[in-house]
Amino acid sequence: MTILSGPSAHPIFSRCPAMREQLPHVPLGEFPTPVERHDRLARELGIGELWVKRDDLSGEIYGGNKVRKLEVLLADALRSGAHEVVTFGGAGSNHALATAIYGQRLGFRVDLFLTPQPTSDHVRRNLLLDHSFGAVMHHAEDAGAAMSDAAEYVALRTRETGVAPYVIPYGGTNALAVTGMMDAGLELVMQAFQGEISVPDVLFVAAGSLGTAVGIAIGLAAGECKAEVRAVRVTSAEVASRQVLDTLVEDARDLICAMDTSCVCTVDLAPRVRLVEDFYGAGYGTPMPEAEAAVARARALGLTLDGTYTGRAFAALMAEAATGALADKRVVFWDTFDSHDFTERLDGIEPAALPEMFARYFMGAQEPVAPALG
Ligand SMILES: *Cc1c(COP(=O)(O)O)cnc(C)c1O
Repeated sequence: MTILSGPSAHPIFSRCPAMREQLPHVPLGEFPTPVERHDRLARELGIGELWVKRDDLSGEIYGGNKVRKLEVLLADALRSGAHEVVTFGGAGSNHALATAIYGQRLGFRVDLFLTPQPTSDHVRRNLLLDHSFGAVMHHAEDAGAAMSDAAEYVALRTRETGVAPYVIPYGGTNALAVTGMMDAGLELVMQAFQGEISVPDVLFVAAGSLGTAVGIAIGLAAGECKAEVRAVRVTSAEVASRQVLDTLVEDARDLICAMDTSCVCTVDLAPRVRLVEDFYGAGYGTPMPEAEAAVARARALGLTLDGTYTGRAFAALMAEAATGALADKRVVFWDTFDSHDFTERLDGIEPAALPEMFARYFMGAQEPVAPALG
């Protein structure tokens, strides 16, 4: 496997040329992702212009926002010489599944440490897919247990094999992964420059571990686009706080500036991202009427959203539009959800094939479950 440093589809390497030599990068997805204009919905909702950034189409096997992060993280894992990748998530985590899929594709053994979350069709589907893509699944009672179990496992494997597994944090978010989403922000600026989309005023995106919103904001800043990013929080206030956001911005900026001083070292990033806090509902992954209404509204237009992330972000967009504040704005909705249909692949995969602790997600009665981070 050769690590390509920046095919032309990645504008970060044109905007920040010194990063080309230094930023690990392995091509996994299909970029740039398309942008789409939705005039009828814009009229109905009272929005000047409404555009959708189709990151659901970011990968042939599996799309969504995690592909961009994994292009950097898994390249870093290759560079480290690791043969195994370890990561975390709630039982239905899209990040865990994306890591299983693309990790397997690059030849890694992938171990997932998964914590409880409310069960649903989506959670059951992702568990079956984790298994079918060859991931080794570990149940952990909570995030603390997941961390200590994983640390123990990593120490054991390092002793046994002499090579440390590569550990990816929750949500695939750290300063390095932010560069993958910074490329996404620059990609949007490039599409505006090429006339495929209007220069946006406001951008809505679902926020879990914040790497996506922060990366997009840094990319927009690097591309001199002044759009405001609304990061719609779908995880707890401790996980996605203003302080976590500001720290991630600073860490990412330090990392980027250490590679290339010409990009974002002097730009004031703080005012560009606003945390929208009213769409967490009763907890991560819980059903929420506003999100369900948003999912239904979008479906009528051919957009497949999910209730946990993109439905909440679209609900935030609809709510702000209803105040009239977006009437003369050019608005981008960033679709971060993979909408591949895995029905055929799932045919014949039995829940009994999963480790026993995951059986409860397939039983009729719902177990009491703690909130988790996706
Ligand atoms: C993970 C995820 C997000 C959130 O991304 P973060 O970088 O963790 O904030 C948004 N939407 C979907 C569909 C996701 O799977």
